[in-house]
Amino acid sequence: MHKRALYAHCMVRFTVLASGSKGNCSVVSGGQTRILVDAGLSCREMFRRMRLAGEDPATLDAIIITHEHSDHVSGLAVTARRLGIPVYITQGTHRAWVRWLSPRKQMTYAQWLEQCRQQAAARMAEVDPSPEDADTEEAETESSSPDTGGKPVAARASEADGENPQKDPARLPAVEYFSAGIPFQIGDIAVSPFTIPHDAADPVGFVFQAEGIRMAVATDLGYIPPNVKAQLKGADLLLLESNHDLEMLRDGPYPWSVKQRVLSRVGHLSNEATASYLEGDYDGQAAYVILAHLSESNNLPELARITAERALNGRASLLANRLLLAAQHEPLMPICF
Ligand SMILES: [Zn+2]
Ligand SMILES: [Zn+2]
Repeated sequence: MHKRALYAHCMVRFTVLASGSKGNCSVVSGGQTRILVDAGLSCREMFRRMRLAGEDPATLDAIIITHEHSDHVSGLAVTARRLGIPVYITQGTHRAWVRWLSPRKQMTYAQWLEQCRQQAAARMAEVDPSPEDADTEEAETESSSPDTGGKPVAARASEADGENPQKDPARLPAVEYFSAGIPFQIGDIAVSPFTIPHDAADPVGFVFQAEGIRMAVATDLGYIPPNVKAQLKGADLLLLESNHDLEMLRDGPYPWSVKQRVLSRVGHLSNEATASYLEGDYDGQAAYVILAHLSESNNLPELARITAERALNGRASLLANRLLLAAQHEPLMPICF
């Protein structure tokens, strides 16, 4: 309780709940609006960490998703349904996520489009109930029970009429599509999504802006292309990937194919790549730089920190900037503006 009192006065807050290959999520607050950025832990664990950091889960207004990898979405459906809040996601990411949750169906793109049409029809029916959609009421009561996801249920659902929304593990209370490059507003927070190079369907990073404060989120990217550098300019807070130490990755336990994937142009940023950005391109505007998505197998927090500090220390004017490390197993205390 005392923590909430402590941070409640901040009009703009950024709280990293978890960061790393076992789960990612953060909370961005601005004005009266609170957004969960990715949902890569179980709902229960995300709520536990929010309370630990003095954030109230019941005050979340929306969930926004960077990409469909499980370390970013594993708690998405349960959390969205429990809170009854909309999910902002790109169409490509949504499609990939639905397919990932429905592997038995081997859904084609045409089938997926058909499912979207049916879901849209179901949503319309909620607004304007018609006799043939009398099961809407039942759908809502069943949705409040925990995820069953049991095989027999799913099989029955797919056999019946192709789709049975209340049994669908991918059912969300509301879906709002956005596209990279097209800014939009969620309540008091302006969101600028931008494309990042990563091996997912339609991965994005974000700049969130509220009360004149810019907060940039860029993790899960193989390198930093010019469009991302442009987005990171003028950020007051920078959540930037520092995934692996190149030597540790090369000598580490991953199979060769996985190493190649991580190192590729659509993999993850190394400590060295992040340092090179901080040294050569970073404008030094951020009050906080948070190193994020550190690998537990191929990195050490101190290595990531030292590599970034060395890059920043070459530029004396940036010494005042606060360098923080996001962690996998515990939340960072909220950063207040
Ligand atoms: Zn990730
Ligand atoms: Zn990823």
